[in-house]
Amino acid sequence: MSSGTPENPLRIAIVGSGPSGFYAAEALFKSEQTVHVDMFEKLPVPFGLVRSGVAPDHPKIKNVTRVYDKIAANPNFAFWGNVEIGKDLQIQELQTYYHAIIFASGAASDRRLNIPGEDLPRSYTATEFVAWYNGHPEYRHHQFDLTQKSAVIIGQGNVAVDVCRILAKSYDELKQTDIASHALEALANSQIEDIYMVGRRGPAQAAFTPQEVKELGELAITDTLINPEDLHLSQTDEAELQLPDKAHNRKNMEILRQLSTRTTGARTRRLHILFFYSPVEICGSAGVSSIVLEKNALSGEAGRQKALGTGETITLPAGLVFRSVGYRGTPMPGVPFHEAWGVFKNEQGRIQPGMYTAGWIKRGPSGIIGTNKPCSYETVEQIFADQAQLHCEIPRSQPLADLLKSRQIQVVSYADWQKIDALERAQGEATGKPREKMTAVADMLAALK
Ligand code: NAP
Repeated sequence: MSSGTPENPLRIAIVGSGPSGFYAAEALFKSEQTVHVDMFEKLPVPFGLVRSGVAPDHPKIKNVTRVYDKIAANPNFAFWGNVEIGKDLQIQELQTYYHAIIFASGAASDRRLNIPGEDLPRSYTATEFVAWYNGHPEYRHHQFDLTQKSAVIIGQGNVAVDVCRILAKSYDELKQTDIASHALEALANSQIEDIYMVGRRGPAQAAFTPQEVKELGELAITDTLINPEDLHLSQTDEAELQLPDKAHNRKNMEILRQLSTRTTGARTRRLHILFFYSPVEICGSAGVSSIVLEKNALSGEAGRQKALGTGETITLPAGLVFRSVGYRGTPMPGVPFHEAWGVFKNEQGRIQPGMYTAGWIKRGPSGIIGTNKPCSYETVEQIFADQAQLHCEIPRSQPLADLLKSRQIQVVSYADWQKIDALERAQGEATGKPREKMTAVADMLAALK
C-alpha cells in the first residue's frame, strides 16, 4: 500500500527537538502528502540549543520558538519528551513504527585542543559552561570556580563571545534574563577582573559576527581592549575582505576599529581581545594557573589563510580556561559516524534509505538558527525521493506508547511541555525574569503529576 495518504500516512520519527528537527517537521507538513511526525527528545522540554545554547541575554533569538509552537500545533504532530533514543528505546525498535527516522540530535560534545594541561581542574569547555548557565539538567551540578581573577577563552566564534559576555556582565545586567538561578548566584559573586578572548588568526578572519562583537562595546562594568596594531591588515587580508562571502568580516573590522579607539579604564573588569595566538600549553598543578600562547603568522592565499606558529611565546595568568573551539557530534550505535568530522555519514541528509539526518549532526556545527531550515528541507527531499522503498511494520503510535509505559517511561507531550512553560514563566515573573527554568528532570516530571 502506498504511503502518504490519509489512510496510510507517511510516518516519520524525528530524534531531537532543536531547530533542525522542527524545520524538518515543517518541511514534511508542507508536502502534498499526509505525514505523521513523532518528535523524540531525551529531555522533558523541547527546543535543543534554543533553550540550552542561545545566551540568556539574547531573548529575541529565542522568539523563534513561536514558529515551532505553530508547527507543533499540526494535528499530525506529537512530541515524545523524556524519551532517550539509544537508551529508553533502541533505534531498531523505533524503526518498526516508522517509515523513516530523521536524526536531528545536534552536536552535544566539543572539539579538543590536544595540548598539555587541557584536562587540568578549572580548564573547562565552553559547551559545559553554556549548558550550565542555561540550566541544562545534565550540567546543573557543574562547578565553575569564579573566585579566580583571570579567565582565558580560546576561540573567537560566537560561542566564545557569549562566554565572554556572560563573564563580563554585572549582576544587574544578568538578573533580568532567563539565566539559571544557580548561575546567576555564582556569577554575582564572581571575582574575575581580566578576561582574554584569544584567536589563532587575525581580526579579518575572526569567526564572530558583527552584532555579537558590537555588544562587547556595550558592557556596563567591563572595558573591551584591543591592540590597534593587530588591526593593521596585510595585502592578503585586504584582498580577503573583498571576497563576496566576507561581508561580516568587513563589518567586524569596522566595529573592532571603533572599539580599539574608545577611551577605556573606568570599569572594574577588562576584556582583552587577542589575535594571532594559539594555545600550546595550559599550566598548573592543582588547577590551571597560566597558559602559554604561541604567536602566529598567517600564511596562504586570501580566504584560506592559516595560522603558523612563529616560535615566540607569551604566558598569560589564567585561573580559568574555557575552550571554545567548536562543538562536535557524538556517535550513536547503529548509525554510521564520520569520526574526523564528528557527524553522521550522509549525502544531502540521507544516511541510507529509511535513515536521515539534519542540522549540526548532519553538516557540523556551523551557521545560525535559520541555516537549519534549508538544511532540513534538503533532508526531507531525500525522504520523498526514497518514499517508494520505505516500509513501516507497525504503522501506529499506541503500541509504542504502551511499550514505553511498560518500561516506566513518563512520556511528556507538547501539552505537558506547555504546562511546564507556563509554570516557568510564572516563576520568572515573580523575580522580574522572563522565565525561571526548571533545571531538574525530576522537578519537571513532578510538576506534571
Ligand atoms: P565557530 O564559529 O566555528 O568558532 C570556532 C573558533 O574556534 C574559531 O575562532 C576558530 O578559529 C577557533 N578554533 C578552532 N580550532 C582551534 C584550535 N585548535 N586552536 C585555536 N582556535 C581554534 O564555533 P562556535 O563559536 O562554537 O559557534 C558554532 C556556530 O554557532 C557558529 O556558526 C556560530 O556563529 C553559531 N552561534 C551563533 C550565535 C549567534 O548568532 N548569536 C551564538 C552562538 C553560536 P579559526 O577561525 O582559525 O578556525
